[in-house]
Amino acid sequence: ESVDELINRLLVTIEDFPEPGVHFKDLTPVFADGPALRAVVDALVEPFAGTFDAVAGVEARGFLLAAAAAYATGTGVVTVRKAGKLPRETYATESQSEYGSSTLELHTDDLPAGSRVLVLDDVLATGGTLASAAELFSRAGISVAGFGVVLELPEMRGRRRLGGHRVRSLIRA
Ligand code: IMP
Repeated sequence: ESVDELINRLLVTIEDFPEPGVHFKDLTPVFADGPALRAVVDALVEPFAGTFDAVAGVEARGFLLAAAAAYATGTGVVTVRKAGKLPRETYATESQSEYGSSTLELHTDDLPAGSRVLVLDDVLATGGTLASAAELFSRAGISVAGFGVVLELPEMRGRRRLGGHRVRSLIRA
């Protein structure tokens, strides 16, 4: 079974969550399956091998992927968090996403300037979330080696907002 077949078999679509009209894609069953989690993480890092010094995860499901990817590649993990969660000095940026806006933050000194980071999340929809993450890393002097997501929703055209960066998605729906 290929990685896209595994994901398609395990993912669940929930109608009208978190609000009416949304077809929410739930990837938690993919994470709960050992072979699927390993296949997903391996497929996300494979095209970026050797091009990053750390893996970043976007709160909260991105943390699961990022920690596994960092462990698998012998790199460190950094967290892009929702407002008010990080205890020290941060860069902060407003993020417009599929369900409205929120603020994302990154510690100013988690990684040295000049580091290269692979940024992971579960879903790419409008691209607002990952575009905000890119802005935070740019402010920190950190270069984005690329973005990896399990699922891309192409009709939301998120790639357009990630101009120039490599984006790896494992399935599109
Ligand atoms: P974007 O900012 O519009 O690209 O939305 C992506 C962010 O919203 C990611 O952090 C996802 O976790 C979350 N998200 C958007 N749509 C879905 C979905 O259908 N399932 C799970 N998460 C989603």
